[in-house]
Amino acid sequence: MAPLPPVRVTSAEAASISESRALRSAQQQVSRIAELRRVHDAFAWFRAHARDLEELQLEVTSIPSPPWGEGARSEWLAQRFTAIGLSDVHRDELGNVLGIRPGVDPSAPFIALSAHIDTVFPAGTPTHVRRDSGKLYGPGVSDNSSGIVALLAMASAIQAVGLANTAPILFIGDVGEEGEGDLRGMRHIYRQPRWSATIASLVVLDGAGSDTIIAEGLGSRRYEIIVRGQGGHSWSDFGVANPIVALARIIDRFTRTPVPVSPKTTFNIGIINGGTSVNSIPESATMRVDTRSASVDELDRLERALHEAVDHVIPEITGRKKQELLTAEVRVIGNRPAADLPTESQLLKMIRAVDAQLENTARIQRASTDANIPLSLGREAIAIGAGGSGGGAHTIHEWYDPSGRDLGLKRILLLTLALSGVADE
Ligand SMILES: [Zn+2]
Repeated sequence: MAPLPPVRVTSAEAASISESRALRSAQQQVSRIAELRRVHDAFAWFRAHARDLEELQLEVTSIPSPPWGEGARSEWLAQRFTAIGLSDVHRDELGNVLGIRPGVDPSAPFIALSAHIDTVFPAGTPTHVRRDSGKLYGPGVSDNSSGIVALLAMASAIQAVGLANTAPILFIGDVGEEGEGDLRGMRHIYRQPRWSATIASLVVLDGAGSDTIIAEGLGSRRYEIIVRGQGGHSWSDFGVANPIVALARIIDRFTRTPVPVSPKTTFNIGIINGGTSVNSIPESATMRVDTRSASVDELDRLERALHEAVDHVIPEITGRKKQELLTAEVRVIGNRPAADLPTESQLLKMIRAVDAQLENTARIQRASTDANIPLSLGREAIAIGAGGSGGGAHTIHEWYDPSGRDLGLKRILLLTLALSGVADE
């Protein structure tokens, strides 16, 4: 990750700003906001537009948004932001879509709400969407069409009922969250001084549900290992070193590396490729490896183990088959930092207060989301669900059930307003 520009707003400053804004406990602030007439109007807006939100969700799901191919959906979202009436709507050079709901205090740092607009599905995946017995079906319908719909519902309701948010609210639809996108959209936003210096808190809307608070970033590193050789005929060149055999031995050696149960640490060989025909010694073979841990030290240890396996196996094979060399390359193809939101943070207090207000039960969880980026910079961020329920994520059988969406939307709205502040009526 490139060095970041100096940061003007630290999470500690943001916390003290919101603490001095009203010398009340988080719970008192949330209770006051929940009583406001316009907040009730916004809740009524969610109920009145339940069916429209479902239509919107089917519409966005039907626009393909493969990794590095989010253009059409990005354009669609920018049009929605403009139609809702957000200010300064624009798409950046990566296709991230940004729009602002100005605040009563224009000098206050932004409260940002984001939803990733990419899916895991490659270009060409059929995006057939349907409604059946009250549920919505389609690839990405929950992850993350439900988040995009929640983002639009927030912007629409706040605009429609004229809520007087104190701090400006930044709405973000970001690209490149999934898989090898490696959080590139959010990473880019936090590299822009205009945003990195002015976003006090980020609330990431990712997937369905109202029962989790992702306040702990799961770190991951991903690698591609490429082994190359001369290749040849299986009969006439017998004895030439074989990249697939080398890869198999590297896998065998690496996967014997012990990993701790706590901090939970995992590895996976996810893809293996190579060879041209059954009677050819391959010229190359590749594999992709995913490692994850709550601890950076464990990720470092797995990285060393992977290099050790490669460095051990290649000379072992080429040493015996002197006539031909094998070479190996280890490339990092993903690096998501691990970091946690401090338990005393204002953001965590607020979401807890909101859950108490709504009598909602939520557990703190660790996951790899767009929140990893600000968290790794020592900034405040969490990821929460968009309400309702879903299943079959990352498969073409993905579904979303909108019953209970209302609770998720109320939760997001109260949290946003508690963070931004809202004027009394
Ligand atoms: Zn997601």
